[in-house]
Amino acid sequence: MKVVVVVGGVGGARFLLGVKAALGLPPIGEGTGEHEITALVNTGDDVWMHGLRICPDLDTCMYTLGGGIDTERGWGQSGETWAVSEGLKAYGADPDWFGLGDKDIATHLVRSRMLRAGYPLSAVTEALCDRWRPGVRLLPMTDDRVETHVVIDDPDGGEGRKAIHFQEWWVRYRAELPAHRILGVGAEESGPAPGVLDAIAEADLVLLAPSNPVVSVGSVLGVPGIRDALVSGPAPVIGVSPVIGGKPVRGMADACLQSIGVETTAEAVGTFFGARTDGGLLDGWLVAEGDEAEVAGVRTRAIPLLMHDPETTAAMVRAAFELAEVGLG
Ligand code: GDP
Ligand code: CA
Repeated sequence: MKVVVVVGGVGGARFLLGVKAALGLPPIGEGTGEHEITALVNTGDDVWMHGLRICPDLDTCMYTLGGGIDTERGWGQSGETWAVSEGLKAYGADPDWFGLGDKDIATHLVRSRMLRAGYPLSAVTEALCDRWRPGVRLLPMTDDRVETHVVIDDPDGGEGRKAIHFQEWWVRYRAELPAHRILGVGAEESGPAPGVLDAIAEADLVLLAPSNPVVSVGSVLGVPGIRDALVSGPAPVIGVSPVIGGKPVRGMADACLQSIGVETTAEAVGTFFGARTDGGLLDGWLVAEGDEAEVAGVRTRAIPLLMHDPETTAAMVRAAFELAEVGLG
């Protein structure tokens, strides 16, 4: 069985644990089996800080699947310390609103060094995964520099608008400043990373994780070629709603949806992705019980959608296989 999963960070990583469990693989680490899971990971959140290239969603997936994540926070490594961040603060070094743990910094140092030596991000990610052994092939959506920026009113009270990096809007301002627009800077000139289009062409099933529809799944779809490959590809595409009862389960995805004029409901998000029969993406859309949705041309089903642990998440994945009428292999 070959499964392709479009993911962001925390929601995507937790969903991948369930995909592995549903296929009979150990959720954490490598397992034996003939199944191949490929994650197409959002890199729009990526950013240079203190001379280091940080890839939040790739790292969240890598640490979660490799057993190194801080499970309470959902990001960063467990048992983390913050000596370097405190040292930077003492220097007044900008930005001071982004936490970089000491263990985490080792990842960024290796990555930055390899990027500067000329390796593409996909090769760097493969090298980092040699250590973490996530049991899933983690492919950045692109090797090109694509960054999500958010257009806001000048936060310092000046006139006019300003575009800031998504991380600054999300982490520093907690997405509380209204977003006029969300831009994928560099997206138009980017292309899929090596392996992305082949994985889609060979997939038995494609899943859209319950990740942020705008800045996670949406960014992956914004790389020219990926959306078309999914729409015209051989595999059924099943999405899972990150919105339950009119709210994102965690985080501020509602602020992102608002900026593109999509209501924060499972039905509206499903309609935003659209039916494959109508030029959209979806063959099926899983929503939470109580969120029974109608999306024209898309098979929907309501089931429990809270990812408490890999086993409950595996039940969501099995439902996706059923909705797609694909056997579990
Ligand atoms: P990020 O990059 O770390 O923000 O993570 P993602 O984009 O992968 O996922 C964020 C989305 O996951 C949010 O919009 C949440 O609503 C959704 N999410 C988190 N936990 C759950 C859960 O247990 N069930 C569902 N259905 N969605 C969830
Ligand atoms: Ca993210």
